[in-house]
Amino acid sequence: MITVFTAFHEQLQVFLRKDLRGAMLSKSLEHRTTVKDIIESFGVPHTEVDIITLNGRSCDFSCHIEDGDRICVYPFLENLVIPGAQHLQERILPRAQFVADVHLGKMAGKMRILGFDVSYRNDYSDEELADINRIEGRVLLTRDRYLLMHNSVRYGYLVKSSDHLEQVAEVIRRYRLLDELKPFTRCASCNGELHGVTKAEIDAELEPKTRLYFQRFARCAGCGKIFWEGSHFPRLIELIRRLSETCAS
Ligand SMILES: [Zn+2]
Repeated sequence: MITVFTAFHEQLQVFLRKDLRGAMLSKSLEHRTTVKDIIESFGVPHTEVDIITLNGRSCDFSCHIEDGDRICVYPFLENLVIPGAQHLQERILPRAQFVADVHLGKMAGKMRILGFDVSYRNDYSDEELADINRIEGRVLLTRDRYLLMHNSVRYGYLVKSSDHLEQVAEVIRRYRLLDELKPFTRCASCNGELHGVTKAEIDAELEPKTRLYFQRFARCAGCGKIFWEGSHFPRLIELIRRLSETCAS
């Protein structure tokens, strides 16, 4: 029998059962296993963990535990410094591309309006989400912590808020994306890229009032839908203003 002791940083305590919070947690096992398995056995997905120490030394998820080991687990925090410690999560993404789970449709739409590449369907299965994450390297955005426990999930983020705007702000804060906004470049409906078109090119498709009042247009390369600045702009500018405020706070 092997017994190990695990302490979670206070910001990870929210994942623990209430009666386990605030304590050094012991776990007895019949076989050796990895640090990842121990951490996730308490309900904390590995994607929420940035630094681990094993008996005071930095380690990664694949380290095997021994009897009497002490594990300390830290979340991703901007200002957390543990000298010599290995960071297990990306500070900045190689590519800001995402796949969102079926509960995050409104958040996905808002992110697309801001120009982010977000793959989303309201019928993605867990297996499809994990496959897209693994094959395309898209960051998996989900409210399901158990989905993030899949071994194959390299980049993932557990969305905490139930408010759509705050959800977008969470992702922007986590991956430092405030400077990456490219509004009016992507279709909120299908994630296709928008390309500018002249009024003459699409004249026959416009409603009379749209033709009369608006001059700048774009067409979605995915679904063909036409957008004009008046269709989204006031709401878009308000969205960016509010996001800038919430991300700065
Ligand atoms: Zn489209």
